[in-house]
Amino acid sequence: MEERCLACGNCTNVCPTCYCFDIIDEIELDMKTGRRYRRWDSCQLEPFAKVAGGENFRKERSARQRHRYYRKFRYPVSKFARFFCTGCGRCSRTCMAKINLKDVLSALLKEMDSSLWKR
Ligand code: SF4
Ligand code: SF4
Repeated sequence: MEERCLACGNCTNVCPTCYCFDIIDEIELDMKTGRRYRRWDSCQLEPFAKVAGGENFRKERSARQRHRYYRKFRYPVSKFARFFCTGCGRCSRTCMAKINLKDVLSALLKEMDSSLWKR
């Protein structure tokens, strides 16, 4: 899946439960005035987890894909006992790489099942 992902961010942009944004500061030439505004961001874009000093905690697409699935199906379950996904399917319909959320989840569940069998 991570080989196919184009890191375009479309899946998060259409998701009704994604809300991440960045803060942009624009300073005017007088160096006294400017504006600060919010801009949509996406955890699937390469600079999303970049911090001061240049370190990027999720530089690889695979790490960003994993984060997205954890963010929808793992972290909220442990914290709020619910998924952060409505099942609307918008992410799958908009994905240019044809990555289907339902198929990925099914494959992950299968992997979990088979690893449970091996214990
Ligand atoms: S829409 Fe598809 S290709 Fe684009 S970032 Fe999401 S999973 Fe990757
Ligand atoms: S199926 Fe889930 S992850 Fe995909 S767009 Fe809908 S709410 Fe978001």
